[in-house]
Amino acid sequence: LLRIEDLHKSYGAEEVLQGVSLEIDRGDVEVLVGPSGSGKSTLLRCLNRLTEIDSGRLYLGVTEVTAPDADPNEIRQQIGMVFQDINLFTHLTARENVTLGLRKVRGMDEAKARERADAELDRVGLADQADSYPAQLSGGQKQRVGIARALAMDPEVMLFDEPTSALDPELSNEVLAVMDELVAEGMTMVVVTHEMRFARGAATGITFLDDGQIVERGPPERLFENPDHERTARFFESIR
Ligand code: ATP
Ligand code: MG
Repeated sequence: LLRIEDLHKSYGAEEVLQGVSLEIDRGDVEVLVGPSGSGKSTLLRCLNRLTEIDSGRLYLGVTEVTAPDADPNEIRQQIGMVFQDINLFTHLTARENVTLGLRKVRGMDEAKARERADAELDRVGLADQADSYPAQLSGGQKQRVGIARALAMDPEVMLFDEPTSALDPELSNEVLAVMDELVAEGMTMVVVTHEMRFARGAATGITFLDDGQIVERGPPERLFENPDHERTARFFESIR
Protein backbone atom coordinates (compact mmCIF):
# COMPACT_ATOMS: atom_id res chain seq x y z
CA LEU A 1 0.00 0.00 0.00
CA LEU A 2 2.87 2.35 0.87
CA ARG A 3 6.13 2.09 -1.01
CA ILE A 4 9.21 4.12 -0.16
CA GLU A 5 12.02 3.89 -2.69
CA ASP A 6 15.52 5.15 -1.98
CA LEU A 7 14.48 8.22 -0.07
CA HIS A 8 17.12 10.88 0.55
CA LYS A 9 16.71 14.04 2.59
CA SER A 10 19.33 16.49 3.82
CA TYR A 11 19.18 19.53 6.03
CA GLY A 12 22.17 21.60 5.00
CA ALA A 13 25.20 19.35 5.09
CA GLU A 14 23.48 16.72 7.25
CA GLU A 15 21.96 13.82 5.34
CA VAL A 16 19.09 12.87 7.62
CA LEU A 17 17.67 10.11 5.41
CA GLN A 18 20.32 8.23 3.47
CA GLY A 19 18.43 6.03 1.03
CA VAL A 20 15.50 4.58 2.93
CA SER A 21 13.36 1.93 1.18
CA LEU A 22 10.37 0.29 2.80
CA GLU A 23 7.16 -1.43 1.72
CA ILE A 24 4.07 -1.51 3.86
CA ASP A 25 1.09 -3.67 2.94
CA ARG A 26 -2.54 -2.98 3.67
CA GLY A 27 -3.30 -3.83 7.30
CA ASP A 28 0.36 -3.77 8.35
CA VAL A 29 1.31 -2.11 11.59
CA GLU A 30 4.92 -1.05 11.18
CA VAL A 31 6.65 0.24 14.30
CA LEU A 32 9.58 2.51 13.63
CA VAL A 33 12.23 2.75 16.31
CA GLY A 34 15.67 4.30 16.57
CA PRO A 35 17.80 6.71 18.56
CA SER A 36 16.98 10.39 18.83
CA GLY A 37 17.96 12.15 15.64
CA SER A 38 17.94 8.99 13.53
CA GLY A 39 15.35 10.45 11.16
CA LYS A 40 12.08 8.84 12.30
CA SER A 41 10.02 12.02 12.37
CA THR A 42 11.54 13.23 9.13
CA LEU A 43 10.57 9.97 7.44
CA LEU A 44 6.95 10.25 8.61
CA ARG A 45 6.79 13.89 7.56
CA CYS A 46 8.08 13.01 4.10
CA LEU A 47 5.35 10.38 3.77
CA ASN A 48 2.58 12.93 3.80
CA ARG A 49 4.56 15.71 2.16
CA LEU A 50 4.95 17.92 5.22
CA THR A 51 8.63 17.74 4.35
CA GLU A 52 9.79 17.74 0.73
CA ILE A 53 12.29 15.04 -0.18
CA ASP A 54 15.53 15.51 -2.12
CA SER A 55 15.32 12.29 -4.12
CA GLY A 56 13.54 8.97 -4.21
CA ARG A 57 9.92 8.05 -4.75
CA LEU A 58 6.92 7.51 -2.51
CA TYR A 59 3.78 5.66 -3.56
CA LEU A 60 0.41 5.23 -1.94
CA GLY A 61 -1.13 2.38 -3.89
CA VAL A 62 -0.59 3.36 -7.51
CA THR A 63 -0.46 7.08 -6.73
CA GLU A 64 2.98 8.63 -6.67
CA VAL A 65 2.90 10.85 -3.61
CA THR A 66 6.06 12.64 -4.71
CA ALA A 67 4.87 13.35 -8.26
CA PRO A 68 5.08 17.06 -9.11
CA ASP A 69 1.34 17.21 -9.79
CA ALA A 70 0.28 15.28 -6.66
CA ASP A 71 -1.84 17.46 -4.39
CA PRO A 72 -0.39 17.50 -0.84
CA ASN A 73 -3.83 18.23 0.62
CA GLU A 74 -5.28 15.19 -1.08
CA ILE A 75 -2.41 13.08 0.22
CA ARG A 76 -2.83 14.34 3.76
CA GLN A 77 -6.44 13.18 3.76
CA GLN A 78 -5.39 9.70 2.66
CA ILE A 79 -2.40 9.57 5.01
CA GLY A 80 -3.53 10.85 8.40
CA MET A 81 -0.96 11.93 10.95
CA VAL A 82 -0.94 12.26 14.72
CA PHE A 83 1.96 14.08 16.35
CA GLN A 84 3.49 14.09 19.80
CA ASP A 85 2.58 17.75 20.19
CA ILE A 86 -1.14 17.91 20.16
CA ASN A 87 -2.01 20.57 17.64
CA LEU A 88 -5.68 21.31 18.17
CA PHE A 89 -7.20 24.73 17.60
CA THR A 90 -7.63 26.08 21.12
CA HIS A 91 -10.56 28.36 20.25
CA LEU A 92 -12.59 25.47 18.81
CA THR A 93 -14.40 22.69 20.65
CA ALA A 94 -13.45 19.05 20.18
CA ARG A 95 -16.31 18.64 17.71
CA GLU A 96 -15.35 21.81 15.81
CA ASN A 97 -11.74 20.61 15.58
CA VAL A 98 -13.00 17.48 13.86
CA THR A 99 -15.61 19.16 11.61
CA LEU A 100 -13.20 21.83 10.33
CA GLY A 101 -11.48 19.59 7.79
CA LEU A 102 -14.74 17.91 6.80
CA ARG A 103 -16.29 21.28 5.99
CA LYS A 104 -13.28 23.10 4.53
CA VAL A 105 -11.59 20.26 2.67
CA ARG A 106 -14.51 17.90 2.02
CA GLY A 107 -17.14 20.61 1.60
CA MET A 108 -19.57 18.74 3.84
CA ASP A 109 -22.58 20.65 5.12
CA GLU A 110 -22.70 21.46 8.82
CA ALA A 111 -25.23 18.83 9.87
CA LYS A 112 -23.43 16.03 8.06
CA ALA A 113 -20.01 17.12 9.34
CA ARG A 114 -21.37 17.25 12.85
CA GLU A 115 -22.82 13.76 12.57
CA ARG A 116 -19.54 12.40 11.25
CA ALA A 117 -17.49 14.22 13.91
CA ASP A 118 -19.68 12.86 16.69
CA ALA A 119 -19.30 9.35 15.32
CA GLU A 120 -15.50 9.70 15.26
CA LEU A 121 -15.41 11.19 18.76
CA ASP A 122 -17.49 8.25 19.92
CA ARG A 123 -15.02 5.89 18.26
CA VAL A 124 -12.20 7.31 20.41
CA GLY A 125 -14.33 7.27 23.56
CA LEU A 126 -15.06 11.00 23.69
CA ALA A 127 -18.76 11.17 22.87
CA ASP A 128 -19.35 13.12 26.08
CA GLN A 129 -16.61 15.70 25.41
CA ALA A 130 -17.70 17.00 22.00
CA ASP A 131 -18.45 20.48 23.35
CA SER A 132 -15.28 20.77 25.43
CA TYR A 133 -12.44 23.11 24.47
CA PRO A 134 -8.88 21.73 24.38
CA ALA A 135 -8.03 23.55 27.62
CA GLN A 136 -10.75 21.52 29.34
CA LEU A 137 -9.34 18.19 28.13
CA SER A 138 -6.51 16.03 29.45
CA GLY A 139 -3.47 15.37 27.28
CA GLY A 140 -4.80 11.91 26.48
CA GLN A 141 -8.19 13.27 25.52
CA LYS A 142 -6.63 15.93 23.29
CA GLN A 143 -4.54 13.30 21.60
CA ARG A 144 -7.68 11.24 20.98
CA VAL A 145 -9.42 14.26 19.43
CA GLY A 146 -6.40 14.50 17.11
CA ILE A 147 -6.90 10.86 16.17
CA ALA A 148 -10.64 11.42 15.58
CA ARG A 149 -9.83 14.40 13.36
CA ALA A 150 -7.49 12.32 11.21
CA LEU A 151 -9.92 9.38 11.07
CA ALA A 152 -12.77 11.64 9.94
CA MET A 153 -11.00 12.03 6.59
CA ASP A 154 -11.18 8.26 5.95
CA PRO A 155 -7.44 7.79 5.62
CA GLU A 156 -5.90 4.72 4.01
CA VAL A 157 -2.92 4.93 6.35
CA MET A 158 -2.39 6.48 9.78
CA LEU A 159 1.02 7.78 10.86
CA PHE A 160 1.72 8.22 14.55
CA ASP A 161 4.80 10.10 15.78
CA GLU A 162 5.36 9.30 19.46
CA PRO A 163 1.68 9.87 20.27
CA THR A 164 2.11 9.00 23.95
CA SER A 165 5.57 10.26 24.83
CA ALA A 166 4.26 13.52 26.33
CA LEU A 167 1.65 11.71 28.44
CA ASP A 168 1.53 10.13 31.91
CA PRO A 169 1.25 6.34 31.84
CA GLU A 170 -2.46 6.36 32.61
CA LEU A 171 -3.25 8.79 29.80
CA SER A 172 -0.89 6.91 27.47
CA ASN A 173 -2.97 3.81 28.05
CA GLU A 174 -6.14 5.57 26.88
CA VAL A 175 -4.41 6.53 23.65
CA LEU A 176 -2.85 3.08 23.21
CA ALA A 177 -6.29 1.51 23.72
CA VAL A 178 -7.63 3.58 20.80
CA MET A 179 -4.64 2.57 18.70
CA ASP A 180 -5.21 -1.11 19.59
CA GLU A 181 -8.80 -0.65 18.46
CA LEU A 182 -7.60 0.68 15.09
CA VAL A 183 -5.25 -2.28 14.77
CA ALA A 184 -8.21 -4.60 15.42
CA GLU A 185 -10.15 -2.82 12.66
CA GLY A 186 -7.32 -3.53 10.24
CA MET A 187 -6.03 0.03 9.83
CA THR A 188 -2.66 0.32 8.11
CA MET A 189 -0.37 2.15 10.52
CA VAL A 190 3.19 3.41 10.77
CA VAL A 191 3.98 4.17 14.39
CA VAL A 192 7.05 5.78 15.92
CA THR A 193 6.98 4.77 19.57
CA HIS A 194 9.08 3.52 22.41
CA GLU A 195 6.06 1.70 23.85
CA MET A 196 7.42 -1.78 23.40
CA ARG A 197 4.29 -3.32 24.90
CA PHE A 198 2.31 -1.87 21.98
CA ALA A 199 5.00 -3.00 19.56
CA ARG A 200 4.97 -6.57 20.88
CA GLY A 201 1.20 -6.77 20.86
CA ALA A 202 0.34 -4.98 17.65
CA ALA A 203 3.28 -4.66 15.28
CA THR A 204 3.45 -6.81 12.18
CA GLY A 205 6.95 -5.46 11.63
CA ILE A 206 9.63 -3.44 13.39
CA THR A 207 11.99 -1.19 11.49
CA PHE A 208 15.13 -0.06 13.29
CA LEU A 209 16.50 3.18 11.91
CA ASP A 210 19.91 4.58 12.84
CA ASP A 211 21.72 7.51 11.26
CA GLY A 212 19.17 7.88 8.49
CA GLN A 213 19.41 4.28 7.37
CA ILE A 214 17.37 1.16 8.01
CA VAL A 215 19.68 -1.11 9.96
CA GLU A 216 17.21 -3.98 9.96
CA ARG A 217 13.57 -4.85 9.72
CA GLY A 218 11.66 -7.92 10.79
CA PRO A 219 8.85 -9.39 12.85
CA PRO A 220 8.84 -8.16 16.47
CA GLU A 221 9.76 -11.54 17.99
CA ARG A 222 12.91 -11.79 15.92
CA LEU A 223 14.04 -8.19 16.30
CA PHE A 224 13.52 -8.20 20.05
CA GLU A 225 14.96 -11.63 20.78
CA ASN A 226 17.43 -12.31 18.05
CA PRO A 227 18.42 -9.29 15.96
CA ASP A 228 21.04 -9.64 13.22
CA HIS A 229 22.87 -6.49 14.21
CA GLU A 230 24.68 -5.57 17.38
CA ARG A 231 23.39 -1.98 17.05
CA THR A 232 19.79 -3.20 17.17
CA ALA A 233 20.42 -5.31 20.26
CA ARG A 234 22.13 -2.39 22.00
CA PHE A 235 19.24 -0.07 21.16
CA PHE A 236 16.63 -2.40 22.66
CA GLU A 237 18.88 -2.85 25.71
CA SER A 238 19.01 0.93 26.13
CA ILE A 239 15.25 1.50 26.13
CA ARG A 240 14.33 -1.46 28.32
P1 ATP B 1 13.61 12.00 18.04
O1 ATP B 1 13.60 10.58 18.54
O2 ATP B 1 14.41 12.88 18.93
O3 ATP B 1 12.23 12.52 17.76
P2 ATP B 1 13.97 11.56 15.19
O4 ATP B 1 14.48 10.20 14.90
O5 ATP B 1 12.52 11.81 15.01
O6 ATP B 1 14.43 11.97 16.65
P3 ATP B 1 14.31 13.70 13.29
O7 ATP B 1 13.45 14.66 14.01
O8 ATP B 1 13.78 13.10 12.05
O9 ATP B 1 14.81 12.54 14.28
O10 ATP B 1 15.66 14.46 12.99
C1 ATP B 1 16.74 13.89 12.29
C2 ATP B 1 17.82 14.92 12.15
O11 ATP B 1 17.36 15.96 11.30
C3 ATP B 1 18.25 15.59 13.45
O12 ATP B 1 19.64 15.74 13.44
C4 ATP B 1 17.55 16.92 13.40
O13 ATP B 1 18.29 17.88 14.08
C5 ATP B 1 17.50 17.22 11.93
N1 ATP B 1 16.32 18.03 11.54
C6 ATP B 1 15.03 17.63 11.65
N2 ATP B 1 14.20 18.59 11.20
C7 ATP B 1 14.97 19.61 10.80
C8 ATP B 1 14.71 20.90 10.22
N3 ATP B 1 13.46 21.30 9.96
N4 ATP B 1 15.77 21.67 9.93
C9 ATP B 1 17.04 21.25 10.17
N5 ATP B 1 17.35 20.07 10.71
C10 ATP B 1 16.34 19.25 11.02
MG1 MG C 1 11.00 12.47 16.28
